[in-house]
Amino acid sequence: MSTPLDSKMPKKIGRIGELAYNLWWSWNADARQLFRQLDKILWRDTRHNPVQMLVELSAAQLEKAANDASFCQLYDTVMQQMDEMLDIKNGWFYKNYPQHIDDQIAYFSFEFGLHNTLPIYSGGLGILSGDHTKESGDLGLPLVGIGFMYPQGYFRQVLPSHGWQEAQYIPLDFDKAPILPATDSDGNEVRAKVFIDGHHVHAKVWHVRVGLTDLYLMDTDVDDNQPWERDLSARLYYGGHDMRLKQEMLLGLGGVQVLRKLGYDPTVWHMNEGHSAFLLIELLREKMRGGMSFADAKEEVRKHTVFTTHTPVPAGHDAFPFHMMEKYFGAIWEEFGISREAFMELGANDDKHEGRNFNMTVLPLNMAGQANGVSKLHGAVSRDMWQHVYPNISSVDDVPIGHVTNGIHVPTWVARELGDLFTKYVAPDWLERHDEPEMWQKVNDIPDGELWEAHLELKRKLMTYLRTRERGKWMNGLHDANQVMTGGMLFDPEALTIGFARRFATYKRANLIFRDLDRLKAMLLNAQRPVQLLFAGKAHPADDPGKHFIQEIYNFSKANHMGGRVAIIEDYEMHLARFMKQGVDVWLNTPRRPREASGTSGMKASLNGVPNLSILDGWWVEGYNEKNGWVIGDDTEYGDDLGAQDWADATSMYNHMESSIIPTYYDRGADGIPHGWVKIMKEAISSNAAEFSMRRMIKNYTEQLYLNAM
Ligand SMILES: *Cc1c(COP(=O)(O)O)cnc(C)c1O
Repeated sequence: MSTPLDSKMPKKIGRIGELAYNLWWSWNADARQLFRQLDKILWRDTRHNPVQMLVELSAAQLEKAANDASFCQLYDTVMQQMDEMLDIKNGWFYKNYPQHIDDQIAYFSFEFGLHNTLPIYSGGLGILSGDHTKESGDLGLPLVGIGFMYPQGYFRQVLPSHGWQEAQYIPLDFDKAPILPATDSDGNEVRAKVFIDGHHVHAKVWHVRVGLTDLYLMDTDVDDNQPWERDLSARLYYGGHDMRLKQEMLLGLGGVQVLRKLGYDPTVWHMNEGHSAFLLIELLREKMRGGMSFADAKEEVRKHTVFTTHTPVPAGHDAFPFHMMEKYFGAIWEEFGISREAFMELGANDDKHEGRNFNMTVLPLNMAGQANGVSKLHGAVSRDMWQHVYPNISSVDDVPIGHVTNGIHVPTWVARELGDLFTKYVAPDWLERHDEPEMWQKVNDIPDGELWEAHLELKRKLMTYLRTRERGKWMNGLHDANQVMTGGMLFDPEALTIGFARRFATYKRANLIFRDLDRLKAMLLNAQRPVQLLFAGKAHPADDPGKHFIQEIYNFSKANHMGGRVAIIEDYEMHLARFMKQGVDVWLNTPRRPREASGTSGMKASLNGVPNLSILDGWWVEGYNEKNGWVIGDDTEYGDDLGAQDWADATSMYNHMESSIIPTYYDRGADGIPHGWVKIMKEAISSNAAEFSMRRMIKNYTEQLYLNAM
């Protein structure tokens, strides 16, 4: 693949631009080392952005690297690995299902969390899509991704000294991001064109290389569009109903078109969440234009479609009033030769608050051949929640919504320091075999002292990262003393550190741990065995209750009486996420059961030997085993008595902290090592690493869903 950087590169390292433009480097340890070696300071200051580095480095600096024998040796190793990775025949999929190698899978998602240089995700859903894309390539699946390029991304969070979150939108510098215009086989730039409300909206298409997988992102910021159309893809999760509907038309209808123009002919269409469900309408239209009847076309579309639902929270399911649907889809049902009612029936749903409307979960439940939730519990909750969509099914167990429990992309989320230990004690090829549960028993062979030292190193790295950030903001006049203080300046690298970071959706109850302040303070301020709490996360800009939670925690973090034992870090994203999940001691999760469909941050923590203290919700129902962490509360559901639920959960959490977590953490052997704690760390890794890997998940999707659709 050629890139704009190629002409600048010395011949000996001529393909380094190709590497920088393939995000594969971000989960290959040697490739990361190569860029680090090129310029350590710039590597840190660009927050690991090799495209920007190569743009900014002078010809002389690059020439120097090309004349450095050790650099060139590493370069050759990395290139060889990249070429092996790019050959689909080396992958698991081809080895097991060679007859399906030409069956393409189209994967649609509203957000993709791939790397901090591409801020086009908001939270867990996006990270999941990103991890799905990465692992699909690692396993050699013939998968292609479709989504949006949001030039202003999701917002950057600023926490002023009053603690009320502010949102900043910073336009992406396209020349320093790992994306290039997508071209067809003739080298022409690809465009999509969707008829919306009387005229055509145009989108250009960007191409992102994610290992073996291609990802295409639509962007409406083009000259042919009216100003309001140019803004359609400007930001993620921004604007009202009307904007959302138009975006979803563009993703579903336009996305199919883009794939066709690029020459794809997928046999599997996977809708990751309902945002892309209009692709079903576009596929129907294609088939009917090819001469099929409506009924036959529907049957044909059903065979090849997969839908994943991601949340039991009602606000997480988009729905549009019929009159809006009428405005945008009138021409389509006429083309189909069906009535308005027949069209609306495809997605009709009775909403408790808004009456009957067109629901973007009901549409794919009605039309897609296969549907699933994202954990065992969430599968059951979804069958119950959507039983009404299937009037002919009387038993909730028969509702055709299964589950595939989420996972995480292990090479992205594992700390290098731990990876080195796994290589030494678990298996030299542990990374290739990381979804084999038995292999992980060997974690017990790691000497306690080595695992503990690696963890302390990661904890120091986290603390240094926080201080470096704050020092920079302080020196540039961006933060006052209060903000520096709330950013963790009084944090103690020796103290037991509990981490909490995710979107500040209110059901996640970030402030639950402050419920009984006296009891909490007795732990935080204990002179011998102190505890400190580290928070991060954004609230959606329209979510004032979520912003109140942030402000409440912010106020605790700067209150004198809390002793600097609470901190909240601005602008949570993937870069900070890695530092936090690898560097704290305990990972806290307090959703209001059963609203957390899966949750994935706890899996990332567990993989890195950070045990979970969590409500029995989402993945933790499957992940907890009595030796690898703690369960807050039990499986009681409290209905509308939210106060009682909060109090019971908080009490249970404090009990664990006082009776188990704090004593075990601080109980050191004569060698200074907390052997009891290290045992829990080892159990967290060995019991969860394989089971909650994205590799296990992609194999499940392939064998339970994709192969059926092929
Ligand atoms: C993993 C991750 C999430 C998801 O966190 P949950 O605890 O599952 O809600 C959100 N944001 C970032 C940056 C992540 O890395």
